[in-house]
Amino acid sequence: MKRSARAIIDSSALRHNLARCREVAPNSLAMTVIKANAYGHNMLKTAETLSHANGFAVSCIQEAMELRQARFIHPILVLQGFNSLQTLKAAAEHRLRVVIHDRYQLDLLDSAPASIKVDAALKLDTGMHRLGLPIEQASNLFEQLSKHSNIKPTPWLMTHMACADEPENPHTQQQLERFAKYTAGLQAPRSIGNSASILGWPQTHVNWVRPGIMLYGSSPFVNGNHKGDDLQPVMTLTAPIIAIHTIAKGESIGYGASWTCAEDTRTGVVAIGYADGYPRHAPSGTPVWINGKETRILGRVSMDMIVIDLTTVEARIGDQVELWGKHLSVDRIAKAAGTISYELLCNAGNLCQHEYQ
Ligand SMILES: *Cc1c(COP(=O)(O)O)cnc(C)c1O
Repeated sequence: MKRSARAIIDSSALRHNLARCREVAPNSLAMTVIKANAYGHNMLKTAETLSHANGFAVSCIQEAMELRQARFIHPILVLQGFNSLQTLKAAAEHRLRVVIHDRYQLDLLDSAPASIKVDAALKLDTGMHRLGLPIEQASNLFEQLSKHSNIKPTPWLMTHMACADEPENPHTQQQLERFAKYTAGLQAPRSIGNSASILGWPQTHVNWVRPGIMLYGSSPFVNGNHKGDDLQPVMTLTAPIIAIHTIAKGESIGYGASWTCAEDTRTGVVAIGYADGYPRHAPSGTPVWINGKETRILGRVSMDMIVIDLTTVEARIGDQVELWGKHLSVDRIAKAAGTISYELLCNAGNLCQHEYQ
């Protein structure tokens, strides 16, 4: 089913953003995070565009197998690891590096046939309290895994920062200190940083970095902007105008009649809505870009349509409206809608047809 809204993906911007990561963390290898269909940018095409990355990180074995089936021979880190003998077997067969973050995985390893040998990364919980084994047990666990007959030599040591997107938050420093203290002396490659860590916390630039959102050109910081971090937007979301009206002063627009015109208002109806991944919670006033100018949405977002203000913009039926992208940062739209760019990119990117450039 082809709808009118399109996500245009700029592959040169993707490459620029990886280059930016390498410039900022020149002594680290980049394991580019392409989980969730590359945050809505198409996993296989993104992997192809970023085939000069040092490796890829995905959430689950299934995503990794799709990469292998497409003949990507890169190192692949599986962030959620395995959760059954079957997925452990698949990981070994496809030469994936699995994250070990919980005791039940150690039990599975103990019950695995001797023929299984898998690369591993020991995920340690330093304060995020999502996935990870207790950091205090780092050296015991590392020894146990290093000797395990089902694990290939030298598991990585890994952790994840909870608050790196807030430059003043002391939580990051605490997590880093715990990681350093309990892994001191262990001879293994390490991986700590996501995008916010890469751009904001040089102490996290150990052997491997794990850039995600920065590759897609959005700032990882709470109040950041992509220009400040020299990132280029990758996805431009566009849809055409399908009707133009003049609504009289005092009349209201859309479901719930939530917007009332303070004067006669020229409006355009744009063929995109929450069914295409445009956020329903974007309020009146959320910016859009059309014909070289910024204007705003009026009234509620519907399933397939929004209404925009054309009072100060020349526009005709069929003109393309940019909802976010080259001229309008996805970070601004996320803020207006009370969410984060990650969610908008995943939703729209996975719902709209793509045009890869
Ligand atoms: C998703 C993820 C990343 C990438 O995070 P960004 O904020 O998108 O850079 C890195 N590490 C882990 C463990 C992740 O789950």
